[in-house]
This record gives sequence, C-alpha cells and structure tokens, in this order.
Amino acid sequence: MENLWNLDNDIAKAIHGELLREEEEINLIASENYVSPAVLAALGSIFTNKYAEGYPGRRFYRGCQWVDRAESLAIERARELFGAEHANVQPHSGSQANMAVYFSFLQPGDTILAMNLNHGGHLTHGHKINFSGKLYHVVSYGVDPDTELIDYDHARRLAREHRPRLIIAGASAYPRVIHFDRFREIADEVGAYLMADIAHIAGLIVAGYHPDPIPYAEFVTVTTHKTMRGPRGGMILCREEFARKIDRNVFPGIQGGPLMHVIAAKAVALKEAQQPAFKEYQRQIILNTRALAESLQRAGFRLVSGGSDNHLLLVDLRNKGISGKEAALTLERAGICCNRNLIPFDPSSAAQTSGIRLGTPAVTTRGMKEEEMKLIGGFIAEVVSRIDSDKTIGRIKKATGELTEDFPIYPRLRNRWEPRLEEAY
Ligand code: PLP
Repeated sequence: MENLWNLDNDIAKAIHGELLREEEEINLIASENYVSPAVLAALGSIFTNKYAEGYPGRRFYRGCQWVDRAESLAIERARELFGAEHANVQPHSGSQANMAVYFSFLQPGDTILAMNLNHGGHLTHGHKINFSGKLYHVVSYGVDPDTELIDYDHARRLAREHRPRLIIAGASAYPRVIHFDRFREIADEVGAYLMADIAHIAGLIVAGYHPDPIPYAEFVTVTTHKTMRGPRGGMILCREEFARKIDRNVFPGIQGGPLMHVIAAKAVALKEAQQPAFKEYQRQIILNTRALAESLQRAGFRLVSGGSDNHLLLVDLRNKGISGKEAALTLERAGICCNRNLIPFDPSSAAQTSGIRLGTPAVTTRGMKEEEMKLIGGFIAEVVSRIDSDKTIGRIKKATGELTEDFPIYPRLRNRWEPRLEEAY
C-alpha cells in the first residue's frame, strides 16, 4: 500500500475512492459481491508473476511446482463442492467459459437454443454483436407472457423445429428456479447437448437452495464471483468423457497463460464455500431477497413473475411512470447502486428500459438482514416516487450513509489507507 501511494498517487486515490464508494453505498447489483480479505490476499499475490501454460503436471514452463499445487487444490475443491467429475478452473471469465464449451462441441453455423436476452439471457447466449450471435445460429426461448416463468413447452416446440446441437439453460436476470431436468428431457428428445450456465446462481446451488444441474447437463459453466463470492473469473464443470476436449479448448484453444493469482483466489473462495457459514450466507440471501420483495410490493411495485426464488428481483416500473434508467440514476444519487434492466416484453429500449434489477448477495455479505431490507425497500419507494425532489434524495442519501456505517465491509483495509489521505488529497 505504501509503495502504491509513493509510486502512483493517482491509482492509489482511485482505489481509495472505490473503497469509500463500496463502504458508503448500498450495492444492489445482483452480479456483484465483496470478496473476503483472504481472497483479496491471494488475488494480490506474487502468483501474478508466473507463466504456467498447460495444466498441473503438464506445463510448458519450468518452476510450476507451487502454482501446480494451487491449481490442483482449486480443481479438487471445485469437483468436490459441485460433485463434478472434471473441473477446469482456468477460464478468465464466465464468457470465456461459455466460449470454450461452444468451441469444443459446435461448428460455426450450428444451432443453439438459448434464453431470449430480453427475457433474462446473457450476451454470450447469442446476442448479435457477441461472438456467440456472430458464429452460431441462435434460436431463443423465453418466458410465458402471463406467468413470466420460462415457457418449457415453447422451448420444446422450438427444439423440435430447429434441432439445436446445444441447449443453454441459464440467465442473468431471471428471478425464479430453473428446471434443469425439464431442459434435459428436451435435449434428449432432439439429441442436443445441454449446458447449464449457473453464473448467477452457483452459490445457491452448492448450498442446496436451487436445483443442481450436475446430474442433467453435460457442461456447467460458472462464474466464481457473484454468489460464489470469489475473484472475477470462470470455471467449467463436465463429465470425464468431455474433459480432454474442454481443457484443450480453454488452453491452447482460446487462452494463453492462466492467471495463477486468480486461480489461487478461486481456490480460497472454494474453500470458503465448503464451510457451514457459506450455506447460512446463501440462506440469508434468499431471506433478504424475499424481505426486499415484500417491502417493495407493499409500496406498490410490480415484480416480474410476482416475486423471487433466488438472489434477485426484477422490478417493473411502468406503473410508477419512470424508466429503469431514470430510476437507477436517481437511486445512485441517494446512495443505492443498481442497474437498469429490460423486463420481459419490454416496450422500452435497452437504453431506457422499464425495469431495474436488484440483488442481495452484496448487502448480505456485509451482514444486513431482513430488517435492513425493509428499510432499503422503503428508501427505494421514496426515491422513485419523488425523483424530482432534491430534498428527498438528500435525506435518503443521509439515511443510506448512516445505514452502511453500521455494516463495514473492509474495516482493517480502511484503517490502513486512511493515514495517507491528508497527503494524498
Ligand atoms: N453467463 C451469465 C448467465 C452471466 O450472467 C454472466 C455475467 O454476467 C456471464 C455468463 C459472463 O460472465 P463474465 O462477466 O465473467 O464474462
């Protein structure tokens, strides 16, 4: 820290600014979280120095005995935690995990059946400006307009008609349970592979609060951040029969040297996820999401699908006469960070949107419980109903600031940064 202040005051100040922002804002971004100091220590370690192309025991460089140890531990822990036959922990991100699966089993032009992006799917599930949409023929299933739940019958009809080679089950903005067993039936009917993209819900799955895709899907892609609360990164789980192909398509297929400091941090996060406290954490995420949902519904907000089974909510703002973009900008001024989001069948553009997406993993990590969720729901209701009132926004900003003070995230880190501040600014 001392070195950073001395060498590069600008970056030091940026990091310090971010530390204060994280401490002082209520973070409801569903895909974010706060890693533990232990994960942070591994992430900032000297493993960043090491090139280790290849896999443990089969590297292209010498001097890999310690990174081999770290990667082997990450692999063992991932396999054990998820009950998977094989794990590849090298993908730099969730997108690269998905890419490696596609490259392993698809040819350009092959058909993928995946969730409509406007209904909650991810960019890598076939957006036209993403590599997935450019390389493959993508057919989309979505949610039923009445229930706003995945329409499995429609997915089945599409599968019969288009005979996809790969079906993707998974989403970035779907508040309900995903039934992997039903997707398996559809995949079997048409002879397709099934990939479960559990980027968002991996933590809930390992804790037993969401159905497990491992018995059903040939490939499971994971992000190690989000509900897993590890470093940003990706991971692929598969059966032994596919292991070689997946490994070869990660390296040398789409990546060079693995990020060994990130892999070590993944191992630490996986160890944390093996502890009983992690299960309790995931349970609290669900309780908190429910409490936030109830508080918002009491204030007259409509939630897509009427609620949530997981860590996130999609709020439909149409009856409030405000766009998702306006809501997210105003909430930020009041100390609440979230993102605008399309809702299914959204009449607005992706730039405006009719909704916001709210998630509880980050606030749950800092120790907030149902009581705080009620308060936060109330703050959101007040801000959204008075977006033109600077007085209201100012008052809520003060209240969010006071609330976050009671739930510090990195108190020791903050103490180490503070002494240099007077000099820095
Ligand atoms: N898949 C899903 C369902 C996601 O929600 C995300 C990230 O938001 C990803 C994949 C990609 O992860 P990354 O941002 O690490 O590339």
